Amino acid sequence: MSNFSRAYIGLGSNLDQPVEQVRQAIDELNQLPLTHRVSTSPLYCSSPIGPQDQDDFINAVAAVDTQLSPLALLDQLQALEQRHRRQRERRWGPRTLDLDLLLFDQLDLDHPRLRLPHPEVHVRRFVLYPLKDIAPQLSLYGKSLSCWSSALPASDSVILLN
Ligand code: ADP
Ligand code: MG
Repeated sequence: MSNFSRAYIGLGSNLDQPVEQVRQAIDELNQLPLTHRVSTSPLYCSSPIGPQDQDDFINAVAAVDTQLSPLALLDQLQALEQRHRRQRERRWGPRTLDLDLLLFDQLDLDHPRLRLPHPEVHVRRFVLYPLKDIAPQLSLYGKSLSCWSSALPASDSVILLN
């Protein structure tokens, strides 16, 4: 019997040594209360969406098992963003750390602070690739992750790092 939920978290950074920001945040996810990390994707590099006068992003996805509620986990993720001194200056602008709660078990939620699945999962290659690396069996809205990523235009560049 388990009262753990499986959650997938998308990480992104394009400021202040982004590879280090993401690696450190991956470690910190394992230190959240009532939560442990079960897998982590490789790192990817992607071109920014929105304003182009900013550096490329480093992205990854981690899976955690947690006894926190979805909103309590979001609180923890937002506190972790703050500890990385994230500043929200403009929409889609540069950030030291962005943590998105992508999926929480099979939950569908439309709360003012939290939408699940994260509404952009299936349209972002930099999320779909690392998510597929650690959870190839997942499907979203009845379609596999590969199916979603092959439906996207090939214009945006998403590169596996090393
Ligand atoms: P973005 O990730 O879209 O660039 P932010 O990280 O600044 O933007 O998030 C903006 C808001 O999105 C947060 O205040 C948060 O409450 C809300 N939000 C809604 N659903 C989610 C989710 N699944 N994961 C993370 N944040 C979410
Ligand atoms: Mg976010």
